[in-house]
Amino acid sequence: MKRYLYSGETDGLKRVKCDVLVVGSGIAGLYSALHIDKKYKVMIVTKTKVDGSNSWLAQGGIASVIAPDDFFDSHIEDTLVAGAGLCDRKAVEVLVDEGPENIRELIADNVPFDHNPEGDLEITREGGHSHRRIVHAGGDATGRETTKRLGEIALTKKNIEVKFETYMVDILTDSRGVCGALINDGEYKIVECGNIILATGGIGHLYLSTTNPAGAIGDGICSAVRAGAEVFGMELVQFHPTTLAIGSKENSERAFLISEAVRGEGGILRNQRGEAFMQGKHPRADLAPRDIVTRAILSEMKKEKLDNVWLDVSSMDEEFFKHRFPTIYQKCHDEGIDVPRQFIPIRPSQHYQMGGIKTDLDAKTNVEGLFAAGECAWTGIHGANRLASNSMLECLVFGRRAANYINSHFRKGSEPVSAGRDDSGEVCREIDKKQLEVREIVSEYANAVRTKEGLAEGKRLIDNLYNSAEKLKLTTQKDYDYYNMLSTAKMILDGANERKVSIGAHYIED
Ligand SMILES: Cc1cc2nc3c(=O)[nH]c(=O)nc-3n(C[C@H](O)[C@H](O)[C@H](O)COP(=O)(O)OP(=O)(O)OC[C@H]3O[C@@H](n4cnc5c(N)ncnc54)[C@H](O)[C@@H]3O)c2cc1C
Repeated sequence: MKRYLYSGETDGLKRVKCDVLVVGSGIAGLYSALHIDKKYKVMIVTKTKVDGSNSWLAQGGIASVIAPDDFFDSHIEDTLVAGAGLCDRKAVEVLVDEGPENIRELIADNVPFDHNPEGDLEITREGGHSHRRIVHAGGDATGRETTKRLGEIALTKKNIEVKFETYMVDILTDSRGVCGALINDGEYKIVECGNIILATGGIGHLYLSTTNPAGAIGDGICSAVRAGAEVFGMELVQFHPTTLAIGSKENSERAFLISEAVRGEGGILRNQRGEAFMQGKHPRADLAPRDIVTRAILSEMKKEKLDNVWLDVSSMDEEFFKHRFPTIYQKCHDEGIDVPRQFIPIRPSQHYQMGGIKTDLDAKTNVEGLFAAGECAWTGIHGANRLASNSMLECLVFGRRAANYINSHFRKGSEPVSAGRDDSGEVCREIDKKQLEVREIVSEYANAVRTKEGLAEGKRLIDNLYNSAEKLKLTTQKDYDYYNMLSTAKMILDGANERKVSIGAHYIED
């Protein structure tokens, strides 16, 4: 892997200083920034506008032990069961124990969680959870409401500067660890800082059909690896069983999610004969863990040669559905599906990356001064399969832990060393076509159901492209994206080939 994407001269670049650089303005980035002590100057850089994150799109809600009849051991147990033996129990305990205090903090910060007419917090249930423990906002717009509110608060803080449409290209290190980053906000600049929190989200855009926005290509993970950070579990990719099946199976647009909470409220999966095919497949039937539901749907689709199966929501009253799932209701009606009377056509799509930058309980990586929180990190809480609605909770708990650690072990920055200066190589051509080729290979060979032969072939194809890309001169953001996509694809396929046995979301058919 190249050490730097940037191949220009760094000595003459403009320099800016901060104490903590946060990369990403999803929930992990915003929440960690808000917990950095106000005596430290924080810069948030984010390559999109405020709505360009996975956080913004999150529908169902945030899991936490809030209901009076729920208990910590049950949330821990459900998380461990979904994780299929790969969770780090200590990390899961931290997540569950610290969950409620973070939810209480969001409530105090006026995140508009939904309440019932009696004024109590509405708490719902999702797949894999044995109790009602999901709080939600705006019906099915929890991510948008939470991100919006945290963003508003961040913009009022004197010690926080938010730079939208600013791309973090490379992390700069010296022999002691982090000393800065190279960013581009229209021009290249060097940020001098001793602490970086990566909160760069997922990798969904490596797949043709995904619920993630286009920027989710794992570039934060790649920058960390180039700086010497370890990753774990990149082959552990979660597919969401229920995304709206409209248009071609290979959507280049984002797939629209039909939240698990719809099944939590009584939605039933049916095949073309109207049979509730999850019955008897798992004790929790339609609310079984995501990998099990995904494979059951794919098997029905294969058996019946179908492009989709259906979600029957007719047990719900129209007013209830409209109030509880306003975004889904509107989208279905826009697409001519008369919910809750008509069944919703659905099929699985890529949704979440369990693996990522390896961190400890304080979100620290093995590189001094480098932290990772949220979807780009491997804390060990999701194991081989994420339990629904645990990811936003992870952003909160470990985002705050990263900030607390930095507050108590503050690292001063040192003068950044030069980056780049490998400006040899051929100019990149037909980058759009090349990016599509990577997505096609990953979708074909590292999908929800994998074969040993397919994984070997996928790795061979990606390795070939990757080796050629090593010789390219990268100059534009599109070039960087292509190289990062290939690096992410390589990590997924290398990991999948090394993990010989099926576990959780990594399912090898043969
Ligand atoms: C449709 C959908 C529904 C979901 N529903 C739920 C749910 O109900 N409950 C739940 O718990 N989870 C849900 N999830 C998962 C959850 O939303 C995410 O895992 C979580 O929000 C990730 O937050 P994050 O802060 O780690 O990353 P994100 O929110 O994805 O933010 C990443 C940020 O990093 C920025 N970035 C990336 N690379 C760079 C770079 N090189 N330079 C600068 N900026 C960069 C991006 O612009 C973005 O701002 C859902 C996800 C999707 C897609």
